[in-house]
Amino acid sequence: MTRVYNFSAGPAVLPEPVLKKAASELFEYKNSGMSVMEMSHRSKVYQEIFDKAEAGLRSLLNVPSNYHILFLQGGAHLQFDMVPLNLFGKSKKCDMIHTGTWTKKAKGAAEKFGTVNIVASSEDKNFNYIPKADPAKFSADADYFYICSNNTIEGTRYVEFPDTGNVPLIADMSSEILSTQLDVSRFGLIFAGAQKNVGPAGVTIVIIRDELAGHAQSITPAMLDYKVHIKERSMYNTPPTYGIYMAALVFDWIKEQGGLAAMEERNIKKAALLYDFIDSSTLFKGTAARQDRSIMNIPFLTSSDELNSEFIKSAEKQGLVNLTGHRSVGGMRASIYNAMPVEGVIKLVDFMKKFEMEHK
Ligand code: PMP
Repeated sequence: MTRVYNFSAGPAVLPEPVLKKAASELFEYKNSGMSVMEMSHRSKVYQEIFDKAEAGLRSLLNVPSNYHILFLQGGAHLQFDMVPLNLFGKSKKCDMIHTGTWTKKAKGAAEKFGTVNIVASSEDKNFNYIPKADPAKFSADADYFYICSNNTIEGTRYVEFPDTGNVPLIADMSSEILSTQLDVSRFGLIFAGAQKNVGPAGVTIVIIRDELAGHAQSITPAMLDYKVHIKERSMYNTPPTYGIYMAALVFDWIKEQGGLAAMEERNIKKAALLYDFIDSSTLFKGTAARQDRSIMNIPFLTSSDELNSEFIKSAEKQGLVNLTGHRSVGGMRASIYNAMPVEGVIKLVDFMKKFEMEHK
């Protein structure tokens, strides 16, 4: 079998050594006599897998001891509800920087439970940049301040996070968690769906500062209460056991690669290969503002929809797949998460060069 270079935004490419290891353990995990998929989540053997996943993530991100790590279900979408249900307290108000599709969804969800104050927005330019937020517009009494740190669809990311003082900063990091080094202590809560940099779909990571849990609104169902999941160490109900096992393997792999410092260096290099070519190209054009460009999701266009389609089709024939851009931006998007090897990006750039030559 020939594996393709998969530029999907998610579910996305996983590291080959992880897939091979999982394949070798699929039928029987160590000497347990069964697959991880068949294990009780309450068994000793599974608890070891779970503990390893949690410890692996804690060590990679240097998560301080006053933060809890949860492995939940429901995707990032459920966090759009859980965040306001749990964190709207005194003022039932939050500040938000509006940067695209995923903050729009988060805003809609939060507005069912309180007030969302948009302190800055890049909607005027189809969200192709990260707006500068004026601290004078921040609400001192906000229960929290919400951002999406990497905008998967629009291809933008924060180079610097806003300073929100005593107001807890909450970030949707679905499409960039573990891609660079991160100071977790700057955040009150971070969440991320696993299906980009962490593992298969079905697991959602939540990292939450201790004091933010335990104040859920009275209508909050137990399943949506962080405190319940913290108390039960993500085992209030059956957790996504196999996904957590896969995440643990991915954490091991990142560690073997040299941890987040090495990931960051490699990701910057990969993104630069693509951006340098796009910037010098006469055919391809990047859609995001230079200073805010994502190093995970890179949208780009040619001069026409016809050429875009032709490019996507011909790239696929070369084993460069899932390059279709999101409909709100159009054109192409290359998602180059941790598991995308440098060779994949080189092959894409070589193909773009060839395509450009043929369409002068
Ligand atoms: N936030 C971001 C930044 C995303 O990229 C996505 C999915 N692409 C979501 C939220 C939604 O994730 P899910 O489908 O897991 O709910």
